[in-house]
Amino acid sequence: GAAMAKSKFEYVRDFEADDTCLAHCWVVVRLDGRNFHRFAEKHNFTKPNDSRALHLMTKCAQTVMEELEDIVIAYGQSDEYSFVFKRKSNWFKRRARIFPTSIWLLLILITDLQTVVFATAECFDGRVVVYPSNQTLKDYLSWRQADCHINNLYNTVFWALVQQSGLTPIQAQERLQGTLTADKNEILFSEFNINYNNEPLMYRKGTVLIWQKVDEVTTKEVRLPAEMEGKKMVVTRTRTKAVPLHCDIIGDAFWKEHPEILD
Ligand code: ATP
Ligand code: ATP
Ligand code: MG
Ligand code: MG
Ligand code: MG
Ligand code: MG
Ligand code: MG
Repeated sequence: GAAMAKSKFEYVRDFEADDTCLAHCWVVVRLDGRNFHRFAEKHNFTKPNDSRALHLMTKCAQTVMEELEDIVIAYGQSDEYSFVFKRKSNWFKRRARIFPTSIWLLLILITDLQTVVFATAECFDGRVVVYPSNQTLKDYLSWRQADCHINNLYNTVFWALVQQSGLTPIQAQERLQGTLTADKNEILFSEFNINYNNEPLMYRKGTVLIWQKVDEVTTKEVRLPAEMEGKKMVVTRTRTKAVPLHCDIIGDAFWKEHPEILD
């Protein structure tokens, strides 16, 4: 019958590559906006950094994290966000291909991104990488923060040359060709009176999301005895929330301060 026919054909399932993420390893999912330089142009992003876009990305990432308690830390910069799943996570049975898609769908379903996605057909590509040790995971996050630093320093000088000195993009690019970090800092300082170290931390360091206890103060209408009718009550609760930080995660200090993340 039908059941037998089905079992006869079922062997084709074995052709699916096994994409189970290795047990006990950190699973990192990085989403990166597809063709975002075009999106940024089309929507007149402030250059080099549009803070509204960065805040929106972080808001979305916070929502994802609060929906998925298996995420222990997230890191975002530019048009990308990385989500780190705890070693013991069994989310979607650790099937690698499902991770990015499900985060993406979750993002669309639970955030205002629907409007953006459906109006513009913008989308993100997603990758999954498995890191076997705490050190490799730290190095992954350091790599992304180093990328943030390098890009932001470059973009800060590039846009100063274009916006303030009136260079064309080509001229600015040529001017920066072959320059080292020290040279870029020097151009910023001597030509634009900008001390790069005083630029906003969110731009220089990106955004780290970690779980922290936060006191939440709310005022509530409560049913009180008649003589206190209409009084409001102040309620303070402690909740664990995904809190954004703009700090260095390359050095040891961050990990010493938050040992629970890698527990
Ligand atoms: P790909 O599809 O290969 O990822 P892309 O155009 O998205 O291509 P990225 O390397 O991901 O390229 O770079 C993202 C681009 O989007 C950067 O060039 C940056 O200028 C722009 N961008 C992203 N976020 C912002 C922001 N908050 N403010 C200004 N520009 C941004
Ligand atoms: P941005 O310009 O937004 O700061 P980026 O260009 O550094 O971002 P991505 O384009 O997302 O970031 O790529 C991240 C890193 O992954 C890059 O350093 C790149 O070398 C590497 N990479 C890009 N595409 C692939 C790929 N298909 N396979 C493996 N590695 C890739
Ligand atoms: Mg890219
Ligand atoms: Mg790129
Ligand atoms: Mg991109
Ligand atoms: Mg990118
Ligand atoms: Mg880069």
